[in-house]
Amino acid sequence: MKTRDIEPFFATLKAANPMPVTELEYTSVFELLAAVLLSAQATDVSVNKATRRLFSVANTPQAVLDLGLERLEGHIKSIGLYRTKAKNLLATCGLLVGQHGGKVPRSREALQALPGVGRKTANVVLNSAFGEAVMAVDTHIFRVSNRTGLAPGKTPLEVELKLLRRIPPGYLVDAHHWMILHGRYVCIARKPLCWQCAVAPWCDFKPKTAAPPV
Ligand code: SF4
Repeated sequence: MKTRDIEPFFATLKAANPMPVTELEYTSVFELLAAVLLSAQATDVSVNKATRRLFSVANTPQAVLDLGLERLEGHIKSIGLYRTKAKNLLATCGLLVGQHGGKVPRSREALQALPGVGRKTANVVLNSAFGEAVMAVDTHIFRVSNRTGLAPGKTPLEVELKLLRRIPPGYLVDAHHWMILHGRYVCIARKPLCWQCAVAPWCDFKPKTAAPPV
């Protein structure tokens, strides 16, 4: 994608959705962290279903600790990898209470020191909860970045660093959400819906897909 195409690409995504938000449901920074931690290899819909139950009984680090492993597993067992995620969430809550006064820290280093929290999860929290201009590269953003030519790369980190260099500052905070939603509903994994894509004029992908015959 040429540099001059990046501005209209994001202006078009913004026009369609001026205030994008994550589809994960949360009402506090801790709930967001817990939801993202539980969301690896699971859909947002399945995570929301489980966290509605969980957060109604425990939505602070201390309350999750008080639940204990068995009851925590009972609340999230509809989500894939729930045993590992329950252990990580409990250990994370232990560190939040023990080292951070029960609050979610705002630094990447402290976030990534929490069990089950990698660079992507830390970036989601820094971006969605704290409004920082960082890019969490998930499978959708990785695909859209490569297909469109916006930020081609072999690894999520390579794509992340290119996106940070190429996306105009005014679009950076919300770019994460625009690109995820675009990848989830239009530039989908199996076969992108190019014929109904608003940003097709600036996308390098060739050949563009056509509408199926009716
Ligand atoms: S034109 Fe096609 S490949 Fe390009 S962003 Fe749109 S859906 Fe994706």
